[in-house]
Amino acid sequence: MPRIHLLPDALINQIAAGEVVERPASLVKELVENALDAGARAVAVTLEQGGVRRVRVQDDGHGIAREELALAVMRHATSKLHTAEDLERIATMGFRGEALAAIASVCRLTITSRAQGSEHAWRFDAVSGELAPAALESGTVIDCADLYYNTPARRKFLKSESTEYAHCEEALRRVALSRPEVAFALSHNARSVLHLKPGTPEERLAALLGETFIERSRAVEAEAGPARLFGRVIEPRHADQSRPPQYWFVNGRFVRDRMLTQALRQAYADVLHGSRQPAFALFLTIDPALVDVNVHPAKIEVRFRDSQAVFRFVLDAVRRALAPSRIALEALEET
Ligand code: ADP
Ligand code: MG
Repeated sequence: MPRIHLLPDALINQIAAGEVVERPASLVKELVENALDAGARAVAVTLEQGGVRRVRVQDDGHGIAREELALAVMRHATSKLHTAEDLERIATMGFRGEALAAIASVCRLTITSRAQGSEHAWRFDAVSGELAPAALESGTVIDCADLYYNTPARRKFLKSESTEYAHCEEALRRVALSRPEVAFALSHNARSVLHLKPGTPEERLAALLGETFIERSRAVEAEAGPARLFGRVIEPRHADQSRPPQYWFVNGRFVRDRMLTQALRQAYADVLHGSRQPAFALFLTIDPALVDVNVHPAKIEVRFRDSQAVFRFVLDAVRRALAPSRIALEALEET
């Protein structure tokens, strides 16, 4: 008879990493979200070989105290959640205390950080467990080298360098779209790729989706009770791209949600012909108590308490933004 035993921590973390670290882009997402939770005003992402060789994220946030560096990479260690009530109204990007532990279990991770008010920085090497003084002006640098070096089976699932790079860039764009007040820089193989100055939401949209998108789209702006929706949706006559940018954000988090997709599709139903897809970037903010983000470790799915109400709100707001097209279409049909 096989005996039951508890798995060693390292193995538990590697199993959990399957859900959190799908590819290098997951490191970009998790580390940049951590930087934002630390109050960063500027975030720099450095990639090598599509992020497989290296993902490095530097921020100017509040840093991590020396005594907490080793704790940060432990499973279920977080500074963002204290009680069960906190779980009901999550205001930070992270809260599960899983990402760093998962990441540390599948790459060579080091954290260099200078906590606010500390005399100098400290560098923690998660592989050796060594802690040593280091030089860093402020904030935190998290360096992840050689993803899956210790799990060859998972390394085989990585795609080409250019594909992995594209996913990394997309992960950064998603975060950057929802945080226009923060500066972002991205470099790949020592070449600077993206440089985003802090600005207004419109400026950030223009920088990432292009001036043409701004010219060819309508502003969406609506508020109802605890919900607010803003962003831009493409004018139906310009919905001609085969794979247009489509971004839904809920409380600053990029999400994929069937109900939201459906509401948008319905808003375009009578103004968009054939199988054409609309380009859009929409930001929904809602009382955190009315939406559950704790559905999956990657937090890309959400659950709304009253999804019918959200559906109607979104449908109505986008319809109104598109109204001039509908009137034009009706006029055309009448003649
Ligand atoms: P979570 O974000 O869910 O709390 P993580 O494993 O991503 O879990 O991070 C663990 C903890 O490490 C965080 O709660 C935070 O206190 C600290 N931390 C991680 N990254 C940073 C950073 N860039 N700046 C400051 N603190 C950080
Ligand atoms: Mg986190």
